[in-house]
Amino acid sequence: MASVSSKTNRADINHIINALEKRHFFKLVCGASLTDVQMVENLSFVFALAGAHVIDLAPTADVIFAAKKGIERALRVQPSLLKPIPMASIQLDKDPHFRKVEVDYNLCDVCGVCVKACPTEAFKVERKDKSENRKQFIYSLERCFGCGACPSYCHTSALKMLDTKPTPKETLEEMIALGITVIEFHFGENIYNLELVLNEIKDLVNKLDLISFSIGSELLSDENIKAAAYLCYRLAGEGIILQCDGIPMSGGGEKIYRNMKNGNNVGKDASTMDSKCLHVANIIQKENLPVYLQISGGTNQDSFSRAIELGININGVAIGSYARKQLMPYLDDLNDENKLQNAVRIAKDLVQSVGLNQEVEK
Ligand code: SF4
Ligand code: SF4
Repeated sequence: MASVSSKTNRADINHIINALEKRHFFKLVCGASLTDVQMVENLSFVFALAGAHVIDLAPTADVIFAAKKGIERALRVQPSLLKPIPMASIQLDKDPHFRKVEVDYNLCDVCGVCVKACPTEAFKVERKDKSENRKQFIYSLERCFGCGACPSYCHTSALKMLDTKPTPKETLEEMIALGITVIEFHFGENIYNLELVLNEIKDLVNKLDLISFSIGSELLSDENIKAAAYLCYRLAGEGIILQCDGIPMSGGGEKIYRNMKNGNNVGKDASTMDSKCLHVANIIQKENLPVYLQISGGTNQDSFSRAIELGININGVAIGSYARKQLMPYLDDLNDENKLQNAVRIAKDLVQSVGLNQEVEK
């Protein structure tokens, strides 16, 4: 497979490479399973205005169109904007990013407990009829991005996580036909399957402008994290992004990274948020591969600084559920100038947190 770095000359990719080189690359993760097109459009709109470099999306045509619409809206507000690039996340093998919750309405007693558990407000309990007191449970499949939080809140076991199963070849063909040439591949526990699957879609992969591989601590041992990094580099060459993934779809928050700072193992046992992705980045950076390292999974506005403090030289940060959670109060009403300004301010704080205090590293 050809080296990716030789194919990154497209003008619209150059500012991404530049951001990676200068280590202030920011990716908004809409969610590999988030198919609520209005939310995707609004998030893309706000984060384009905030200066995000890449917007990571579910690999479906309507989601891609929604993101492009959001970016175009941002360009109308700010024509000098450097356009963020839409990236599609594609599953090569079983990966926790690709799932949705399924509701068994026969079991649901409409208690409403799960409503508050969902960070994207995918559930609602409404009165069936104004004159009656009977309630109904409403679930928006599109809003569910598969975080997996809600089943444990349900006392009747009405909520179950189901994997979605897109085929990599068809998905990649569709994405390329839509002009999406920046792709993130997700793969499962069996890392050696990666070579097999990638070989089957080699001709399509060679058409891409930039490739990211997501390497997750949830699925892999420390040894396999290292092996996966080497494998991705061997298969796709230098200039790829290795996304060091921690706790997928977790919302980011705790400061237990101190464990790591104190030399403690923060591998699979750590009940932390971004410490897991920092752990993955720490393992991979020791291998000195000519790749870009970007963290994701449990990340927030402090994650870049934490990496620097720990001596981990990452090139960028992706923020997903934490960003979406922060913006939820504003997203449905972006025509209100105040709400739009507040949303962009919050998004900018996240984008600009990447690249801060780089000097600490020395
Ligand atoms: S809590 Fe998570 S898994 Fe459950 S509906 Fe909401 S986004 Fe989907
Ligand atoms: S927690 Fe379970 S029973 Fe209660 S409303 Fe949600 S799905 Fe229904």
